Amino acid sequence: MESAVFPTVLPTYNRADVAFVRGEGPYVFAEDGSRYLDFGAGIAVNAFGHANPRLVAALTAQANKLWHTSNLYRVPGQEALSKKLVENTFADTVFFTNSGAEACECAFKMARRYHFVSGHPEKFRIITFTGAFHGRTLAGIAAGGQEKYLEGFGPKVEGFDQVPPNDIKALEAAIGPATAALMIEPIQGEGGLHPMTPEFLRALRKLCDEHGLLLIFDEIQCGVGRTGTFFAYEQLGVTPDIMCVAKGIGGGFPLGACLATAEAAKGMTAGTHGSTYGGNPLGMAVGLEAITMVLEPGFLEHVRTVGSYMRQQLAGLIAEHPAVFEELRGQGLMLGLKLHVPNTDFVAAARKHGLLIVGAGENVVRLLPPLILTEDQVREGVKLLSDTAADFDANRKTAAA
Ligand SMILES: *Cc1c(COP(=O)(O)O)cnc(C)c1O
Repeated sequence: MESAVFPTVLPTYNRADVAFVRGEGPYVFAEDGSRYLDFGAGIAVNAFGHANPRLVAALTAQANKLWHTSNLYRVPGQEALSKKLVENTFADTVFFTNSGAEACECAFKMARRYHFVSGHPEKFRIITFTGAFHGRTLAGIAAGGQEKYLEGFGPKVEGFDQVPPNDIKALEAAIGPATAALMIEPIQGEGGLHPMTPEFLRALRKLCDEHGLLLIFDEIQCGVGRTGTFFAYEQLGVTPDIMCVAKGIGGGFPLGACLATAEAAKGMTAGTHGSTYGGNPLGMAVGLEAITMVLEPGFLEHVRTVGSYMRQQLAGLIAEHPAVFEELRGQGLMLGLKLHVPNTDFVAAARKHGLLIVGAGENVVRLLPPLILTEDQVREGVKLLSDTAADFDANRKTAAA
C-alpha cells in the first residue's frame, strides 16, 4: 500500500485495544470472553450497572411504541420526568438534551438571556474555575479553560473568565459590571476530583445574591446519587439557580438536562432554544425509570454505606502502598486516588488485572463504579487495585536493586 489508510473512526481518542461485547451489573465482558470489573461505569454513566433489567424493560417498552416525534408536539415523557425532577430538586423547570455539553450550552444561554430580559444585555460573562470541565463545544471548552482542549480551536468564545477554586479574593476581584453568572462543579470530575470546600460554595451563593448573578452548578458527573444524595448540592446547604445534569440520569442512554428556577429561566421563551432529539420518548422512558430507582427508599442510603465502606478499604490500600498512592479524594461513590506513579500507566496496568478505572487531572485515577455495587464487589475491586499497585512496588524494587 502506498500510504497509511486514515482511520474510519476519527482518531480523537487514544483508545485501549479492548472491545466489550456485553455487560451484567458491574461487570463487562470483552470479545475474547474475559471479564472486567467496571469501576469506570462508562465515565460515571452506568449508575445501575450494565443491562439493568428495569432500564432494559423501560427502553424496550417505549421502543415498541414510539421513538421520536420532535418538540413540535407535547411529549408526555418530558412532562412526567420534569415533574419528578422538579418535585425532588430546587428547580421549577427542565430543558432536556442528549448530552452534558448541551446541558451546559443551555445553561450559558439561559444566564445571558436572563440578564438580557432583565434590561442588562451588558451582563454576559460567566466566571468559571481552574480545572473545570464543561464539555467539548466551543463555549464548553472556553468555560473549561483548559489549554489542551482549546489549542487550535480559536478564537476562544468570548465571555468566560477563570479564577482558581477555593480563592474568594480572586473571585471577588474577577466580578465586574459584565459578569452574569458563576459556574462550578461542586466536585470537579475530569479536573482530578479536586474538592471544593463547602465554605467556598456557600460564599459563591452569597456573592451571587449580593451582585445579582446566577449560580450555575455543573452536576453532570457528581449528580444523580453519585455522592450519596440525589444531587451533591443538598449536602452543602446551598442551592443553585441553574444546574446541568447528564451522565447518570440516562443510566447509559444519552440524556442530559438543564434545570432552573422559574426566575433564572424567565428569558427562555418559545423560539429561544431548541433541539430536534432533546427529550425524545426513548430517553424520557429510561430517565424516568432511572430517577425512580435512585429515589426509591434505601437506594441513596446504599450509596452512602457502600461509599464509606469503599473509603475505609481504600484508606487501608493507601497505607499498604505509600509509594504508589498519595491520597484519597471524593465523596460517596465518586472517589479518586492521587498517585505517585503516572496515572495512565496505572489505568493500563489495572486493566491487565481485569479492573476498569478512569484517569483524571492532577495525576488522579477515578473510581466511579455503578451505584448498585455491593461490599463484596468493593473488596474485589480493592484487591485488584492492590495487585496493580504491587506491580509498581515490584518495579521500584527491581529498579533500586
Ligand atoms: C462529562 C461532563 C460534561 C460533558 O458531558 P458530555 O455528555 O460529554 O457532553 C460536562 N461537565 C461535566 C462536569 C462532566 O463530567
